[in-house]
This record gives sequence, C-alpha cells and structure tokens, in this order.
Amino acid sequence: MVRDATRDWVKREVSPIIEDYCQRAEFPTQLVNGLGEIGAFGPYIPAEYGGAGLDQMSYGLMMQEIERGDSGVRSTCSVQSSLVMYPIFAYGSEEQRKKYLSKLATGEWMGCFGLTEPDHGSNPGGMISNFKDIGDHYLLNGAKMWISNAPFADVAVVWAKNEEGRIHGLIVERGMEGFTTPETHNKWSLRASATGELIFDNVKVPKENLLPNKSGLGAPLGCLDSARYGIAWGAIGVAMDCYDTALRYSKERIQFGKPIASFQLQQKKLAEMITEITKAQMLTWRLGQLKNEGRATSAQVSMAKRNNVDMALKIGREARQMLGGMGITGEYSIMRHMMNMESVVTYEGTHDIHLLITGMDVTGIPAFK
Ligand SMILES: Cc1cc2nc3c(=O)[nH]c(=O)nc-3n(C[C@H](O)[C@H](O)[C@H](O)COP(=O)(O)OP(=O)(O)OC[C@H]3O[C@@H](n4cnc5c(N)ncnc54)[C@H](O)[C@@H]3O)c2cc1C
Repeated sequence: MVRDATRDWVKREVSPIIEDYCQRAEFPTQLVNGLGEIGAFGPYIPAEYGGAGLDQMSYGLMMQEIERGDSGVRSTCSVQSSLVMYPIFAYGSEEQRKKYLSKLATGEWMGCFGLTEPDHGSNPGGMISNFKDIGDHYLLNGAKMWISNAPFADVAVVWAKNEEGRIHGLIVERGMEGFTTPETHNKWSLRASATGELIFDNVKVPKENLLPNKSGLGAPLGCLDSARYGIAWGAIGVAMDCYDTALRYSKERIQFGKPIASFQLQQKKLAEMITEITKAQMLTWRLGQLKNEGRATSAQVSMAKRNNVDMALKIGREARQMLGGMGITGEYSIMRHMMNMESVVTYEGTHDIHLLITGMDVTGIPAFK
C-alpha cells in the first residue's frame, strides 16, 4: 500500500514537472506540502511527534518510489527525515522534540544537516567548526559545505567541536545573527535539489539548542546510517525507472525492420539489468528486516548503499545506450538519473569509503587512516 500510494503520488506530482525544474536547477518547493501529507518526512518517527509511525521497510519503499521520480526530491526527504528529524528524535530533549518534530513532519519547517566542511569530507572527525561556552549561550564559528537544502532551510542540525574537541550537534535557526547559507551554483548533478554552504560567524546559539543525549562522531554517523539505508532503496527506484524506460523503448523502436528488443545484444542488457535489480532488492529487503529487528550493522548499510548505487549507475548507462540519441534528451528520465547518481555515489560516504568500511568489517583493519 505504501509503495503504490507513493508511486501514484510521484507519477502525479513529480514526474510531470521534474525535468523542467532540473533543467532550470531549481528545487520544486511546491512539492513540500504534499511530501509532508504522504508522510515522506519522518516516515518512521512515532506519530505522537508528527511522524508517520511506519516501519523501516515502508520507509525504504517510500524512498524507492520518490527516487524513481528524482534523486533530488528523495535527497530532500532523506535529509529532513534521517538527518534532521532523526537526530532531534534520538539525541534531542523532550522540549526539542516537541518544538521541532511536528513542524518538520508537515514541511512547515525545512531542515538541513551540516557535517561536511571545505577541508573535511570523507574525514568529518577532523572538522574545525567549533563552539565556546560563553555563560548563557554558545558562540559558534566555522563553515560547512555541500549542504543539501541549506539555501531554504529554516533549521540546521550542525556538528561542531566544543572546547575539549568533542563533537556535538546544535540546532541553528535561520535568522540567528552571523548565520548565512549561500547557494552552490553550476552543478551538473542533483540539479532539482538546492545545495549550499553554512557559514557561522560568531553565531550566538542558545544553550537549549544543544542536542543533549549523544556526542562524539558516532552521533552524526548514526544519522548517516539511517539516510544511507534510504539511499540503498532509492537507488533501486532509479534503476527500475531506467530499466522500465529501456524495456518500453526497445519494444517500440524499429531498426532493420524489427523492434530493437528482438536483438540478442539488447536482450542481454535487459536480462542483466533485471537480474541486478532483483539482487539489489533482495539485499535491501533483508537489510530492512534486520533494521526492523534493530540488528542491522553500519557495515551492512555501507554494503547496500555502495552496491545499489553502483548498480543504478551501471544500469543507467546501459539503458541510456539502448535509447540511442534519444537517451541524451530530457524527453526521457535516464540521463537526469545518471547525472544525479554521480552525487549519490559520492555523498553520504563515497563508493571507495564504503568499500573500505566493508574491508574493515571483514579484516578488522581500518585501511582509510
Ligand atoms: C550534491 C551533494 C549534496 C551533499 N549534501 C550534504 C549534506 O546535506 N550534508 C553534508 O554534511 N554533506 C553533504 N554532502 C557532502 C558529501 O557527503 C561529501 O562530498 C562526501 O562525503 C565526500 O567528501 P569530499 O567531497 O570532501 O571528498 P574527499 O573526502 O576529498 O574525497 C575525494 C576522493 O578521495 C577518496 N578518499 C578520501 N579519503 C580516502 C581514503 N582514506 N582512502 C581512499 N580514498 C579516499 C574519496 O573516496 C574520493 O574519491 C553533499 C555532497 C554533494 C555532492
């Protein structure tokens, strides 16, 4: 039910407009209310805090269907759900939960998540953003880069070090003096998602805005686990849309007097695509079961994110070739998906970093430091 309802909504609201927004490099803000209404913001956050109270499988299927529409729209949902609502729910005080979660669930407030810095991407633990205790408030300084939703976010969950060098999460609100969010332009990828910087110049953050219940690098990494799980599902949506498009086109396109689907080389592509999609679905479905039971490990999430995004990238490329010249136009979704996946393969841990996490999991030896 969740899958079908989300699919219908995406077909109706996202598919007809997304190419145009992507071409213009603009986030379709008119989708926000509808995303709130279908429960795409905080699907697994309990209903008492405004979330949809669904299980992890439903969350995954929603991300699959939304990314089938566009990775930029799914990114907005992932950030809002797993990188803003989740840390406030899991690490926040009861007052913080009450103040922020229901407004974030409806989309009345939009959030962003500031971890990456200009000089610290794959190595967020090296961050230099910092805050000092000035008696009745904290003073926050530093800068974050590549932040999804930053240009329009009302609240930012920001990770910074205290005077002892310990990482904490702080909720920073738009309008606080010294806090600016310049937009990043000229992206060739994820064009329907707004990306920007977060700049903190002596920002006075009230003490009640510190997330009290978890600190250290494990806190932001816990949020990333949840978002990466959603990405593993989302990438399947991209692959399915590319596969469906290529299958349909190949049955209709006539060359040498026959549909191109009748040639063995084209069938090989389609057969391999559906095999890879099915394998990714099985991997992710099992991971969803483990998540529901509270048994999924970070390394398992890394394996699924890496595998499924790589699979979607490869399927996008094959599918695009099956459409010949038409494949490069905006008449079809494939090229937009392919370009989007270049961001998805990099953010939330790059392809290589996830491989090293799997390597560490099986050998016990971290090869990335
Ligand atoms: C569109 C977009 C949206 C994003 N949204 C957000 C967001 O909302 N919030 C946020 O905090 N961040 C966000 N990011 C940032 C993203 O998470 C980082 O880009 C990513 O973690 C990689 O960091 P980097 O770009 O600095 O690359 P680097 O860390 O500089 O890596 C460059 C290359 O070196 C490789 N590399 C690095 N270290 C090692 C190593 N030890 N061993 C082997 N290879 C290594 C990497 O795999 C990569 O190929 C976003 C990025 C993009 C592109």
